Amino acid sequence: MLKTICFFCKKNYTIDRSDTQYQRILKNPKARYVCKSCNQSMQREAQTTTGLNPDHIDKYDKYLR
Ligand SMILES: [Zn+2]
Repeated sequence: MLKTICFFCKKNYTIDRSDTQYQRILKNPKARYVCKSCNQSMQREAQTTTGLNPDHIDKYDKYLR
């Protein structure tokens, strides 16, 4: 288990291995965590503003590294 703060909403989260961002934050405690609800709203926004497919959301992941 790992305690982290969402980069967008600044809420505290405790994540575990089931979270896809767990390994990344484990390796780099300064890595930015984005919670599921912010992730979803980000995906929705990307879809409505750019028409991007959510499968291509990886580019946000790169951006946050
Ligand atoms: Zn959040």
